[in-house]
Amino acid sequence: MAIKSNLLENTFYQHDKEAILLRRSVREFSEKYVEPMAMKLDQAKSKEEVLSGMKKIIEASSEIRLLSLIVPEHLGGMGGLIYMGSNALEVLAYYDGGAATTIGATWLGLLPVYIGGTLDGGATWEKWLRPFAEADEVGKPQVWSFAITEPTAGSDYERIEGRALPEMTTVATQVEGGYRISGRKVFISNSPIASHMTVFAVTDKGRPYETMMCAIATKDMGFKIEQVYDKMGHRSAPTGEVVFDDIYVPEENVICRPGLGWNFVKMTLAMSRAPVGAIGLGIAKRAFDKAVAYSLERNQGGKRLIDHQLIKYKLATMLEKILVSEYSIYGVSKKVDGSFPPSELEPSLAKSFGGDIAVKVSLEAIQIMGGYGYMKEMEVEKIARDAKLIQIYEGTNEVNRLTAIENLLGL
Ligand SMILES: Cc1cc2nc3c(=O)[nH]c(=O)nc-3n(C[C@H](O)[C@H](O)[C@H](O)COP(=O)(O)OP(=O)(O)OC[C@H]3O[C@@H](n4cnc5c(N)ncnc54)[C@H](O)[C@@H]3O)c2cc1C
Repeated sequence: MAIKSNLLENTFYQHDKEAILLRRSVREFSEKYVEPMAMKLDQAKSKEEVLSGMKKIIEASSEIRLLSLIVPEHLGGMGGLIYMGSNALEVLAYYDGGAATTIGATWLGLLPVYIGGTLDGGATWEKWLRPFAEADEVGKPQVWSFAITEPTAGSDYERIEGRALPEMTTVATQVEGGYRISGRKVFISNSPIASHMTVFAVTDKGRPYETMMCAIATKDMGFKIEQVYDKMGHRSAPTGEVVFDDIYVPEENVICRPGLGWNFVKMTLAMSRAPVGAIGLGIAKRAFDKAVAYSLERNQGGKRLIDHQLIKYKLATMLEKILVSEYSIYGVSKKVDGSFPPSELEPSLAKSFGGDIAVKVSLEAIQIMGGYGYMKEMEVEKIARDAKLIQIYEGTNEVNRLTAIENLLGL
């Protein structure tokens, strides 16, 4: 069923001129490269098909320099950051949640670099962001990952209670000229196709808060992908388990020295959470459009579904959620762009709300579409599977809400 969305074009939030142009260009890119692949990659029989399909989408994204969107202009990028990033991810997610996650996870991997460069007068940017933008310009974009989650610790590394951090098992041992890193990270987005990974490790297992650091590991240093996960949703986005088996990382790849790592994690998540909420918003908008299109075509009780008051009411409550989420995501994204260090409170709530509306709106869309909605061919079933992840990654919604209230009350 062909659908044309007005909610991507006619947004409730009054976007800046640059954002309107960006949304148009991401939309055109997505209709050309993402949409035709979305269902195919979701239903792909082999992991290889997914990896090569997503690599092609990423390579094609160089046509609009999408990945360089968040690189400062003087380094060859487009000079956007959180507000522009949220816009791009919302539009991408409308076409495929997995594509949005893949682009967003590269930006997530770059954020510690962005923070490092903000603190050191730009030296870290020059070292990593300029080559990143150059690679994108010649159509060989780099894919990055962000690796903190461990087999025994997920939520505990996504909260603000730094001093209560549990043991971290990824350890960096100082050697001449750098560090040797050993450990294991789970659920790492992009890792099966990543050339670069910002990895968090500690120099003393028992003192994670005091000794956490962040460094960039590159593929040629030898991090291994132990498995590529088979997931419920975002199936086009490769997610892997990563093993660091005594790999050598030179000092020049250290983004923050031991002791500063936890501050970098907090700032990174404060910057990345509103854009993750935007992925939820894009997913919700597509589910809404699917439900509208169906209710215009389907007849029951002698009239179109849309002509039943109950259906109109359901659609209105879906729209209400979309409106509130849109204002929260873009209001918060702008605030994050304008402040450093960013507050964790508002981004955490924009993310949890965006995740919740994605799930609620997509399940309601299935309900409106009845038995057909439950069938894979109608796509809304895929959309609901994609929606669920927004409540889980980037800190679960529970953890995001805890972060917000603890931040507000100084607990
Ligand atoms: C597809 C996917 C991609 C991901 N990508 C990345 C990535 O790129 N990089 C990365 O580092 N990580 C990534 N993650 C990891 C993700 O951030 C974690 O899964 C998430 O933080 C939750 O951690 P956990 O899975 O260990 O769950 P747990 O922490 O074990 O939580 C289990 C349940 O307990 C609840 N809970 C936990 N602590 C509390 C508490 N204090 N109070 C109340 N409830 C609590 C949680 O809300 C949840 O419902 C990804 C995960 C997935 C599924």
